[in-house]
Amino acid sequence: MSSSQRGMPSVAASSTWRDEDGVRQPAGDVHAWWPGTNQTLCGTPLSRARLDRFQHVLWADAVWVEGTAEPGAPVMALCHRCAAASRPRRTADGRGRRTARRA
Ligand SMILES: [Zn+2]
Repeated sequence: MSSSQRGMPSVAASSTWRDEDGVRQPAGDVHAWWPGTNQTLCGTPLSRARLDRFQHVLWADAVWVEGTAEPGAPVMALCHRCAAASRPRRTADGRGRRTARRA
């Protein structure tokens, strides 16, 4: 399994909805996913977990959307293991410092 960084992962999710522009958006359980692979960053096989691929939705965008969710928008439950796996190693930019970190 390659762990080389190629930009940003997209997402895979257990549910789908369409925004007002008709674009498929992730909902439900949302994982980070590298296009071209068949499992999530946390190691969940897409097929077995019945996750849909959202190649056009970046994980970083999903994280942002979750933090700014509008009332009535479908709920996303971001996978914490994927969040940890996708987090850059450099230290945070000063706000919201997190010290909890698993080895
Ligand atoms: Zn995950």
